[in-house]
Amino acid sequence: MTISHHLDDATLVAYASGNLPEAHGIVVEAHVAMCQACRAGLRQAEGVGGAVLADQMEAPVSDVCRSATLASLDAVLVQSPRAKTSQGEVPLVLSRLLNGKPLADLAWKKKAPGFSMFNIPTSKGSKTQLKLLSIKPGAAIPEHGHGGEEITLILKGAYRDHMGLYQAGDVADLDEDVEHTPIVVGEEVCICLVAVEAPTRFKSIWARLAQPFVGI
Ligand SMILES: [Zn+2]
Repeated sequence: MTISHHLDDATLVAYASGNLPEAHGIVVEAHVAMCQACRAGLRQAEGVGGAVLADQMEAPVSDVCRSATLASLDAVLVQSPRAKTSQGEVPLVLSRLLNGKPLADLAWKKKAPGFSMFNIPTSKGSKTQLKLLSIKPGAAIPEHGHGGEEITLILKGAYRDHMGLYQAGDVADLDEDVEHTPIVVGEEVCICLVAVEAPTRFKSIWARLAQPFVGI
């Protein structure tokens, strides 16, 4: 697998210091499980994350509090994806969330011809959403911005936008002000894992995505 598009350093540091929202953390884990470069980046980020935490602890805290916090950071790092592998066609972290079901067997909801979606439940009260998108070759996604930090991992197939070609393993780690017009290319259906922050904006993005199909 050749991976050309990686996670931002800022995203790796946020993940390593436990400051990434739930859904985004899952996409980071899934990419890192597939990507040696980002595994190395995460190791560095863990050092930076530890330093950030130490800074935050400049305020007087008891030794007990300090060691409890560091222990909980260790627990996060032990669970970090370095040790994880993939299971079948998807990274292990995702396979667990799907109860081991193959992508083809999921209860996909058809949103428009050529476009289906599957919601992966996150914790109660989570302000982020995790979705699988399935888009047929040739489908163009209208230009859109993002209602917040959005991370997309390509699991199968490929799409192209002004940033280049995104294939299995690539990740689009986009700020909210980035606008793009991805087009699914090749013969294969493109399946992506997407973490988004703002549910209402997300709905509007996919309503716009559906426009060419349903004429709204
Ligand atoms: Zn990477």
